[in-house]
Amino acid sequence: MKVLVINCGSSSLKYQLIDMEDESVLAKGLCERIGIDGSKLTHSPAGKEKYVVESPMPDHSVAVKMVLDALVDEKVGVIKDINEISAVGHRVLHGGKYYSDSIVVNEDVKKVIKDCFDLGPLHNPANLIGINACEAAMPGTPQVAVFDTAFHQTMPEKAYLYAIPHEYYEKYAVRRYGFHGTSHSFVSKRAIEVAGLDPENSKVIVCHLGNGASLSAVVNGKCVDTSMGLTPLEGLIMGTRSGDLDPAIVEFIANKENLTVSEMLTILNKKSGVLGMSGGISSDFRDLAKAADEGNELAKQTLEAFVYRVAKYIGAYTAAMNGVDAIVFTAGLGENDAVTRRDVVSYLGYLGAEIDEEKNKVRGEETIISTPNSKVKICIIPTNEELAIARETVALI
Ligand code: AMP
Repeated sequence: MKVLVINCGSSSLKYQLIDMEDESVLAKGLCERIGIDGSKLTHSPAGKEKYVVESPMPDHSVAVKMVLDALVDEKVGVIKDINEISAVGHRVLHGGKYYSDSIVVNEDVKKVIKDCFDLGPLHNPANLIGINACEAAMPGTPQVAVFDTAFHQTMPEKAYLYAIPHEYYEKYAVRRYGFHGTSHSFVSKRAIEVAGLDPENSKVIVCHLGNGASLSAVVNGKCVDTSMGLTPLEGLIMGTRSGDLDPAIVEFIANKENLTVSEMLTILNKKSGVLGMSGGISSDFRDLAKAADEGNELAKQTLEAFVYRVAKYIGAYTAAMNGVDAIVFTAGLGENDAVTRRDVVSYLGYLGAEIDEEKNKVRGEETIISTPNSKVKICIIPTNEELAIARETVALI
């Protein structure tokens, strides 16, 4: 059975075609600059040369058509007919409070995705266009929506309610939702296996540290808290997002700089985080590490602040769960950057957590990096959101 996984961003579309017999990736690729000049499809079929097409993509439905054409192309394709695709799994950003699980798409599901446009203004409209385009191109092929918020729906009220007038929750569903749910779910399940924990008696903290970054606290496989909020802006310091700050800063800077709230939010989402803190060096941690090594003080401060915030959240979640059995690192930075992992764990002596420097010298490998004496297992579990979406899709059809 072959499953196509589609992940529509505001101006991009990522895809993978996965053969579920052996979970191998037959082809993957990316459409960039959808709706803007310079649209480009990069299609990478397994074992064949990369194929790049530069052609206008006014919207996501044109992008979907180009992807399907590439998949069945005589030269660069990996299947003969579109009917070989048994189902399509769509990553959908926001399912609001409605979905705590993935679901086969029907008109009701589409309505909920639409009702959540307010909550995910950049992604949900693109996700819906992607679903509609796939339905039109492959009538009768099941489409599954896998929500980034679903895994976090098990949070208790005390974790998801904000201390603002309750009417805003009732009227507008303003609450913590959390994101990266597919990753937190996949990684926390795998961590229980890798660390040899009892699934019914386990406390895991997942540190998803990439360009977007979030933590989750997972008790017996269920999420009890997570660092992102109503939107992905809350929580950790990220590549370009500020994470937690005093909300009064928004009005303060807006008044000083004559900006609107919406312009301020763009700054907090796109120009802040490690990019903004470092004075504009980069949103990429590799560039920051290089600058810090070369003696740049702002780069050093930025990296220290990033690690400090992660360590503070680990402390908070350990308290929330009254203990922790395993701390897991995942995503671009968490999987690849030994220095960040070492620096985060250096704050956790009070937990009896101890990293093995030798074992920590790995990249992107599923492994335990704590010493045998460590009271907490520390692991690296590479995340694989596409595979997780494909598995969910198969389970539902
Ligand atoms: P993601 O959003 O999960 O793709 O993660 C992207 C981020 O991971 C990049 O911005 C980099 O800062 C970081 N990253 C990826 N590879 C490495 C590496 N080898 N060393 C340090 N950081 C890395």
